[in-house]
Amino acid sequence: MATVALDEIRKSFGTVDVIHGVSLDIKQGEFVALVGPSGCGKSTLLRMIAGLEDPSAGTINIGGNVVNDLLPKDRNIAMVFQSYALYPHMTVRENMSFALELEKRPQGEIDKAVSEASGILGLDDYLDRRPKALSGGQRQRVAMGRAIVRNPEVFLFDEPLSNLDAKLRTVMRKEVKRLHQRLKTTSIYVTHDQTEAMTMADRIVVMNAGRIEQAGTPLQLYNRPENLFVAGFIGAPQMNMLHGRISIGSGMAGLTHADMVLEMPKDLALQDGHEAILGIRPEHLTIDPEGVLNAVVEVVEPMGIETHLTCMIGDTELRLIAAPETEALPGQHIRLSYNVSQVHVFDQTTGARVSARAEA
Ligand code: ADP
Ligand code: MG
Repeated sequence: MATVALDEIRKSFGTVDVIHGVSLDIKQGEFVALVGPSGCGKSTLLRMIAGLEDPSAGTINIGGNVVNDLLPKDRNIAMVFQSYALYPHMTVRENMSFALELEKRPQGEIDKAVSEASGILGLDDYLDRRPKALSGGQRQRVAMGRAIVRNPEVFLFDEPLSNLDAKLRTVMRKEVKRLHQRLKTTSIYVTHDQTEAMTMADRIVVMNAGRIEQAGTPLQLYNRPENLFVAGFIGAPQMNMLHGRISIGSGMAGLTHADMVLEMPKDLALQDGHEAILGIRPEHLTIDPEGVLNAVVEVVEPMGIETHLTCMIGDTELRLIAAPETEALPGQHIRLSYNVSQVHVFDQTTGARVSARAEA
């Protein structure tokens, strides 16, 4: 287990700048998810930590030592990729022991490491099989086993579950989390999937276009996204965004949207007349005959545990998570309300948050 500290990391490929000064301190034993849309620089950052790419500027510190000039094999890290990259002609046992064999470790030590890893990952019955005789989930487990036997200070994961089908991804998500709870190895986990980040990580780092937008625990990001990007990225279905103009009257703040005046939190750091965005999560909208929002139902999706509605207010689409027994028909007019303590307000121009933390 080691700390990892990034200080003002930059990376350019030729004349193209892709990482614009990223600083991040990761605690010993912490599980950090780097999440962001495709192309935002997650893999590049991870590969620099691994030593597979050199930063153009900045320092990388692992366990208190600057490692910029160390080869990957000397950094005490192990990486698990999306493509399992197993050797097809080797058995599971050989795949897992290969790195230790290369290092000429004593046979007893190798056998012990492989048998421990295989026990943790439930691979005992598959040790003599070749990868082609394994399922996708089992192959990914072997890839993790190969990382575990090296007993690294830091695990680096780059979208390790992306090749698996949805059901298996959910299973493996839990397995990786269990693994971390057991081994407590500092882990950096790259994903574009906010659900993976939310469910697995101690701390989430949201990246966009080569920069960190916000870092915090899953619930910090959910309850208090600092800007529109994070608000739209964290949470599924996505937060609804209503665009309007702030009107501040006596003791009351409102947002004018279409012909409605929507109640806003009182502590807004925005002036009268300013353009703003009101963010309301789908789980915070309620069907309410007295509600101020006047919407037309477009799509009804029963999920069993809850029912999702897609409604329109003028040209703006609103998603709503309603009770499973909700009866609504496409074309029907409904009224919706929200609790003003649960909404998020953003400055339309800068995208920055201008309201206090929302209550859960
Ligand atoms: P992510 O993993 O978040 O999808 P990447 O780190 O792979 O994003 O890529 C970030 C950006 O850097 C992308 O625009 C990508 O095209 C560019 N990039 C990555 N590797 C190289 C490379 N070896 N040469 C040139 N551009 C690269
Ligand atoms: Mg990537």
